[in-house]
Amino acid sequence: MTTSLSDFQSLGLGEKLRRALRDVGYTEPTPIQTQAIPHLLQDRDLLGVAQTGTGKTAAFALPLLQRLDEENSLAKPRRPRALILAPTRELALQIHEELERFGKYTELRQAFIFGGVSANPQIKALRQGLDVVVATPGRLLDLAGQRHIDLSEVEVLVLDEADRLLDMGFIRDVKRIVAQTPNSRQSLLFSATMPHAVAALAREILDDPVRVDVSPKQVTVKEIDQRFVMVGTSDKQRMLEHLLRDDEVSRAIVFTRTKHGANKVAKKLGNAGIGAEAIHGNKSQGARQRALKNFKNGDSWVLVATDIAARGIDIDAVSHVINYELPHEPESYVHRIGRTARAGATGAAWSLVDPSERSRLRAVERLIRFSPSEIEVNLPPRDPAEAPRVNPPRRRSRPRASTNQRANASALPRAGSRRR
Ligand code: ADP
Ligand code: MG
Repeated sequence: MTTSLSDFQSLGLGEKLRRALRDVGYTEPTPIQTQAIPHLLQDRDLLGVAQTGTGKTAAFALPLLQRLDEENSLAKPRRPRALILAPTRELALQIHEELERFGKYTELRQAFIFGGVSANPQIKALRQGLDVVVATPGRLLDLAGQRHIDLSEVEVLVLDEADRLLDMGFIRDVKRIVAQTPNSRQSLLFSATMPHAVAALAREILDDPVRVDVSPKQVTVKEIDQRFVMVGTSDKQRMLEHLLRDDEVSRAIVFTRTKHGANKVAKKLGNAGIGAEAIHGNKSQGARQRALKNFKNGDSWVLVATDIAARGIDIDAVSHVINYELPHEPESYVHRIGRTARAGATGAAWSLVDPSERSRLRAVERLIRFSPSEIEVNLPPRDPAEAPRVNPPRRRSRPRASTNQRANASALPRAGSRRR
C-alpha cells in the first residue's frame, strides 16, 4: 500500500530499508517505531519504556542500520560500530535475525555473540570486521578481556530488555561493557518496567534522552479478550486441562509462578495427552532452545513458562495465554498476556484465580484500569477410573478433541462474547 509505505518514508527511512520492510511485510510503523525513529535518526539518546510485542526491535534497528549505511565506512577488524546487548541468547538471536532481514540491501556485516558454544567462529568473524554485534554480556566480556573485540569505536549502543538484564544479575557486566565504549556514542535503553535500578542505569548511560512510553493499557485492553475463572488451587490442573481442550485454543502459553510449578504442570499435561513443554531459567540453553523449537514447529502446542523465561520471546500465533496463578507483580500480568495478540492479531488471556488470589486480581484491575469478565465453568465430575495414562502416545500436532471433550468445551463462552 502506497500510503503505508510512505509512513515509514515520512519517518525518514531510506529506500534500502523500505524495500526490506516491504519484503518482511511491515506496512505500517507501530507506535513505538513512529515515536522513536525520527529522534534516533537525529542522533538523540533514547529511553524506551515498552512492553514486549510493541515492535522495539525495528524501532532501534532501522535507524541504526540507516546511520551505519549512510556513513559508508567499513568496520575495522575487531572494532564493531554498533553493539546491542540482550539478556539471553534467544533474544539476541531474534534481534540478529531481524537485523539481517532489515539490512539485506545494505553491505553491513553483523554477527551474534553468545556463550555456551566455541568462541572460534565468533573470533574469526570479529577479525574480519563487523558493523553490528548483538551479544549477551558474559561472552562479550570474555572476548573483550582476550582482546578479540575492542569497543572503542562503538557509535551506537543499545541495551534491550534492561530490566531483565538487571534481573539476571548482569548489572556489573553491563557497566563494565559500557565503560569500554566512547562517551561520544549514541545510547538507547529499552525496558518494560522502570524499577529504581533501571532508572539509575538510564541516568548513568543516557545523555539527555528522548523518552518514549508505550502504555501497556492499550495493549491489554484493546486487543486481548481477558477473562478469569474462580477455581480452588487443588482443582486448577483439571480446570487447565479442561480449558485447553476448548476448540478455540490452538496454541497456548501457560504461566506459573515457580520453575517447580512449571515442570509439574507440564508433566501432568503430558500425562493427560496434551503435548506440553516447560521453559524456565533452570533449564540449560539447549533445553530451552529445544522446547521453543518444538513449540514453534507444532510438536507441542502448550508451553508452560515462568515470567522470566518467557519475557521477550517472540512466538507468533499464540491463541491463548493462561495464568495458572496470578503473578505477585501486576506488571507481570501485562507482560504475560502480551505474549498473545502480537502486532495486532487477536488473542485471549484466561486466569485461574483461587479465592486467596482475589487481592492480586484487584491489583491487576487497578493497573490495567479494566475488569476481565468472569467465566463460569462447570468442571466435569472427577472420574476415579480416569487415572492418568503413564505413557501417552506422542503426537506431532494438536490432537483432535473427542466428541465428549468438545461437548465439555461448549461450556465455555466463545471468544468475543462478553458475559458477566
Ligand atoms: P518487542 O521487542 O517490543 O517485544 P518485536 O520487535 O519482537 O517486539 O516485535 C513483535 C512482533 O511484531 C514481531 O513478530 C515483529 O515481526 C512484529 N512487528 C514489529 N513491527 C511491525 C510492523 N511495523 N508491522 C508488522 N509487524 C511488526
Ligand atoms: Mg524485543
